[in-house]
Amino acid sequence: MPEGDTVYVAAGRLHRALAGSVLTKTDFRVPAIATADLSGRKLDEVVSRGKHFLFRIEGGVTFHTHFRMDGEWHLYRADSRWRGPAHAIRAVLETESWTAVGFHLAMTELVETAAEDRLVGHLGPDPLTDWDHGEAVRRLRLHPDRSVGETLLDQTVMAGPGNVYKCEICFLRGADPWTPVRDVPDHDGLVDLTARLMGANRKTGMQITTGDQRPGRQRWVYGRAAQPCRRCGTLVRRKAQDPSGERVTYWCPTCQPAR
Ligand SMILES: [Zn+2]
Repeated sequence: MPEGDTVYVAAGRLHRALAGSVLTKTDFRVPAIATADLSGRKLDEVVSRGKHFLFRIEGGVTFHTHFRMDGEWHLYRADSRWRGPAHAIRAVLETESWTAVGFHLAMTELVETAAEDRLVGHLGPDPLTDWDHGEAVRRLRLHPDRSVGETLLDQTVMAGPGNVYKCEICFLRGADPWTPVRDVPDHDGLVDLTARLMGANRKTGMQITTGDQRPGRQRWVYGRAAQPCRRCGTLVRRKAQDPSGERVTYWCPTCQPAR
């Protein structure tokens, strides 16, 4: 699942390709906005907030979307062939030089730019766009009985971290992911680590937490169930953190002892 750094990198690429150009064609393939036509308007900018994309378009319109589980944006030159399944296309934005094609997008809608807060106003500080360390610490402490793992996924605390960062941050802080926030020492350090790890990936968008870019060495615990911990050799464990079983947690029971 794409995390905040992935979205930040994708928004940057889209901005460099499209911003400042007039849209020559728009094609929204979701029922609620299928009839909208924004051609003839300039695309002013593409920005990210957490895992959300905001395309700000001339005339005070914002096209909002989200990658959710498997969204992608592709950029094509005018006459090149599109890859990816046609049935998964949710939006096409064309300028004279580029065509941006969005696959598997979620939460796709058009809103007044002045009303963007309705979509992203609930988000906590984003380490890559509007970071505020003190505010992130304050929000972290709002639910002291909740597990640190769940809290790191709460986008109203910090916008951007997903399941990879959650697992890696808990490992690097020596915290069992089920520990209540109030029992995790050094909230400042936890928040600061989140911002530094995401900041380090602002160019790659690849959630590299070990500092090693080589395939198979990029992470401490995420995706490494039953493999030896890189620090202590204990086998990394894997378990669903929430009832849906969607968010799988990886952790080292030795480096991250239960309290
Ligand atoms: Zn370990």
